[in-house]
Amino acid sequence: MINQKSVQLGSVRSVIRELFEYGKARKAQIGEENVFDFSLGNPSVAPPAEVENALVDILTHGDPVAVHGYTSAQGDASVRAAVADYINANFSVGIGADNIYMTCGAAASLCIILNALLNEGDEVITIAPYFPEYKVFTEHARGKLVPVQGSEGTFQPDIAAIKGAITPHTKAVLINSPNNPSGVVYTEESIKQLCKALQECKDNGQTIYLISDEPYRELVFGGVKVPYIMNYYADSIVCYSFSKSLSLPGERIGYIAVNPAMGNAGEVYAAVCGAGRALGYVCAPSLFQLIIPRVIGKTSDISVYERNRDVLSAALQSYGYEVVKPDGAFYLFVKSLEPDSDAFAERAKEHEILIVSAKSFGVEGYVRISYCVSPDMISRSLPAFKALAESYGK
Ligand code: PLP
Repeated sequence: MINQKSVQLGSVRSVIRELFEYGKARKAQIGEENVFDFSLGNPSVAPPAEVENALVDILTHGDPVAVHGYTSAQGDASVRAAVADYINANFSVGIGADNIYMTCGAAASLCIILNALLNEGDEVITIAPYFPEYKVFTEHARGKLVPVQGSEGTFQPDIAAIKGAITPHTKAVLINSPNNPSGVVYTEESIKQLCKALQECKDNGQTIYLISDEPYRELVFGGVKVPYIMNYYADSIVCYSFSKSLSLPGERIGYIAVNPAMGNAGEVYAAVCGAGRALGYVCAPSLFQLIIPRVIGKTSDISVYERNRDVLSAALQSYGYEVVKPDGAFYLFVKSLEPDSDAFAERAKEHEILIVSAKSFGVEGYVRISYCVSPDMISRSLPAFKALAESYGK
């Protein structure tokens, strides 16, 4: 018999993918323009011009054998040095190229770091709502995901609840800010308190690693700052991805950064290299590694997301929806108009609105609206959102 867990994972689509497939079929039936598809977190704006310029230049003038060849398993040394320089210029953490491992995006970064850190039965605390793949990645790394509810309404980390969830098996806390699906950015105060709690464990002899999953770091609005965890806690690792900031999700490029201030940073980095090797995640796509030194720090035009956020959240609030304060990423987290958010998301379908029930993100009573869509679709969808609210007597 082949591995049944893998069969099951491969046979059952995620709720988001299921909805996306439904949307494709529905668009074929009634026309693309008549379906308001807010299901996926696929960037809707083009990569910045610098990406194409770098690609053209490298392909025109680079040595094709080197451009398309293997790099070192952990990534090209000059690319890793450029990533380290960028991190130091922005966050002053004294990181070096040998603390950086280039990956195929945040998903690979997470799989590698979890396999690097966890032993059989180790626990990973995360804060709900959370990206559903965390459970799949953690279990594949022999661990157990322990979701802890964020504070009701704000979805900031609930420090008392996190402390209550720590056991002798806790190996890591995994956070994601700006958050998918809530759009919430964890405040500096939240991060400080979380790190203080973890430092207390460290002082009592238990090291708990803090992993920060950061595909949305640059997607923040209104001058909101995303604290850099390495400045607050030594035993920390950043899992970064260029998928959203540069609109390159299909190209699979990101990195893991191990905090050099960690007492066993060398050992953790060796474990990252070992886990990358065992998982076959070596030598991230070479061409896209090579563009990174030329484009790091650039973003696609995120003002489009900001406008979408403003238009959609203002309109929904005026129709009577409760919206969680959306500071970043490209998701709006909205209170369901009935207690069962699955039923609410189903009812939205009757108005051709496709939104994701937050049950799959570990939270009851909310839905996620991905507003990385065309501004035109946002405008056209507003009457449907209004009619949906009216159908609940709003
Ligand atoms: N983590 C979060 C919170 C995400 O939302 C996503 C993708 O949507 C990922 C990780 C995976 O990102 P990547 O495409 O870089 O693998």
